[in-house]
Amino acid sequence: MALVVQKFGGTSVANCNRIKRVADRVIRRKKQGDDVVVVLSAMAGQTNYLISLALEMQSQPDRRELDVLLATGEQVTISLFSMAVKARGFDAESFLGYQIPIETDTAHTRARIRNIPTDRLKRAIEQGKIPVVAGFQGVDNLGDITTLGRGGSDTTAVAVAVALDADVCEIYTDVDGVYTTDPNICPAARKIDRISYEEMLEMASLGAKVLEIRSVEFAMRYNMPLHVRSSFTENPGTMVVKEDESMEDVLVSAVTYSKDEARITVKKVPDKPGIAASLFNPISEANIVVDMIIQNTREGNLTDMTFTVPKGDYEQAMEIVKRTADEIGAESVAGDRGISKVSIVGVGMRNHAGVASKMFDILARHGVNILMISTSEIKVSCIIDEKFTELAVRALHEGFGLDKTDS
Ligand code: ASP
Ligand code: MG
Repeated sequence: MALVVQKFGGTSVANCNRIKRVADRVIRRKKQGDDVVVVLSAMAGQTNYLISLALEMQSQPDRRELDVLLATGEQVTISLFSMAVKARGFDAESFLGYQIPIETDTAHTRARIRNIPTDRLKRAIEQGKIPVVAGFQGVDNLGDITTLGRGGSDTTAVAVAVALDADVCEIYTDVDGVYTTDPNICPAARKIDRISYEEMLEMASLGAKVLEIRSVEFAMRYNMPLHVRSSFTENPGTMVVKEDESMEDVLVSAVTYSKDEARITVKKVPDKPGIAASLFNPISEANIVVDMIIQNTREGNLTDMTFTVPKGDYEQAMEIVKRTADEIGAESVAGDRGISKVSIVGVGMRNHAGVASKMFDILARHGVNILMISTSEIKVSCIIDEKFTELAVRALHEGFGLDKTDS
């Protein structure tokens, strides 16, 4: 008998029929003899809808009040789900964040979980009930409702699984696992059976949206196996687990891309100590995250600085940079929004030379010019012209042997 935490995302509980289907599924598992704890998201679109209501009241909604509002989405699904379970002759008990309690810090709309006492959950399990936990929400030391940030139900599920020392945390979603790349732009993409936490973390931060980043960090820290699978089929999905030796045989596990990038170049900056600090401090003070940075030395003690920021922060970043450029005596500032980032990810890179140059070769053969490059232990990213994104992804997917083999 296993203890399983099952998290169902918004599309899996999007309406009453789907909630009933999920209830059937959970009960089937329970009948097999496993103990199941359920974590639910709000119905698909509900959190966005609630945010739109808040925006009608205040252009920058008060964060404490926003949390009170947003937490209602999950309150709806956990109660309806518990009713569906009871209608099927089984017993369930719903829990809002404060009832468990899911204890968090006070950072409204992006709170972090501090502790989860397990007494109430364990008691419900002992009584033969299915505990049903509201995802995404918690309570701070003042007793105020907090939320964990968008997609936070994944983190709730992993944290509950860790607190209960569950055997596995199953994340049910509308895709049947983690893919070698986005199947929407590359039909040859394959479902991955097993992937390491490190690779999954890189993929999530590079734009793959299946799992929320913090949930993967959490699972990695506590070595909680994650099973990402579809709530619409019975097929096994992708296991996200601790790295093992067999994973290193594969050079590249996945190709990712992100169109959410913009590039800024500051030209002919006098090259002296403190230049980078004066350029980047005001940007980080504005909470803008700089990703890649390249510095090129020119003759005459001048240097060029090129870096990328999220597209949504481009205008604000440009304004800040233009101001600093004047102060530090740079010649000019140029920007480009029409770029994207394609990346290859794989733990196998650690022990194999030449993976990056193979990537450059493949892109060159397809006539894709590389604008910037960055690497880490298990990832190589290239900034390219946005219009080549799809071509580059497909070429890399094929070039590193990730395409479906017809079987
Ligand atoms: N309902 C929240 C959101 O849409 C949390 C979640 O679904 O994970 O972000
Ligand atoms: Mg989600």
